[in-house]
Amino acid sequence: MSVLVVGGAGYIGSHTVRRLLEAGEDVVIVDALYTGHKEAVPENCRLYEFDIRDEAALDELFKNEEIDTVIHFGAFSIVGESMKDPLKYYDNNLGGTLSLLKVMTRHRIPRIVFSSTAATYGEPEQIPIHENDKTSPTNPYGETKLAMEKMFHWSNLAGGPNYVALRYFNACGADESAEIGEDHNPETHLIPLILQVPLGTRDKISIFGTDYQTPDGTCIRDYIHVDDLANAHILAMNYLRDGGKSDVFNLGNGTGFSVRQVIDAAEEVVGTAIPREEKERREGDPAKLVASSNKAKEVLGWTPEKTDLPTIISSAWKWHRSHPEGFR
Ligand code: UDP
Repeated sequence: MSVLVVGGAGYIGSHTVRRLLEAGEDVVIVDALYTGHKEAVPENCRLYEFDIRDEAALDELFKNEEIDTVIHFGAFSIVGESMKDPLKYYDNNLGGTLSLLKVMTRHRIPRIVFSSTAATYGEPEQIPIHENDKTSPTNPYGETKLAMEKMFHWSNLAGGPNYVALRYFNACGADESAEIGEDHNPETHLIPLILQVPLGTRDKISIFGTDYQTPDGTCIRDYIHVDDLANAHILAMNYLRDGGKSDVFNLGNGTGFSVRQVIDAAEEVVGTAIPREEKERREGDPAKLVASSNKAKEVLGWTPEKTDLPTIISSAWKWHRSHPEGFR
């Protein structure tokens, strides 16, 4: 039997593929390569290159391969882009998931683990955020992820696959090998943008907002290492294989760091000063997002290990320094 990783050529997908292979799983990948990278796919996986909205191609794949679990990363994920072009997100994220669910149900594939996001919560009512807290997304990206969760929920009740939805907080860092890492175009995430300064491709890092109700005035986020996220997918898959019920879990490290703290830590790691400029707030940014991951710890047995900023940033630095232009 094989595990099908949808979006396995992307950032979190490619790290999960490596952990699956290390765990002795046979891995099949489907990726349209809109944002994923062929170079991130290991040789010992079978890569199908198509868009999962193509139901006929999916149907063919499930006929050819013996899939026992699907892990689904295949979605667009840039908040700002989703504000400008919401229908692109509805079309790809919901259209792809709908087609995947239809074909999985037809082929009686019993389980799926999929990427959800902290963006499903919107502006939090309390910190840390728990899975039962109010979900009220403030952008189309979060809205489509929440709709995906609901699609899985209702189709599961009607006899469709069991599911685990993993709500990631701020994914960051890179594989120890530095062979794979974060490579988005355009890049919008804080840590890769900071590291572009010592790489020489950016003069300074912008700090979006310094008047938040936080100790140093900048936004606080829960940065979670991509390897810890990858491990959670393996645990979630095995939880479902062992008969665990469909459920939703937060994945964060439970500690918040401010934008200034992240830049300071990056200066320590790279050993040079990183010039910064204070800018206006970025639209839609809540002051503080920190997860309670107690449920994932208790139910899945997950413990994030790479939780301190120097470890996270060093791994990202190793990747970016050795691949200044990403996979290109
Ligand atoms: N941020 C920043 N400067 C940048 C990029 C991001 O100050 O050039 C801030 C952003 O406002 C947020 C935090 O860094 O408070 C993390 O942003 P990122 O886009 O990495 O992740 P998000 O929290 O939006 O998922």
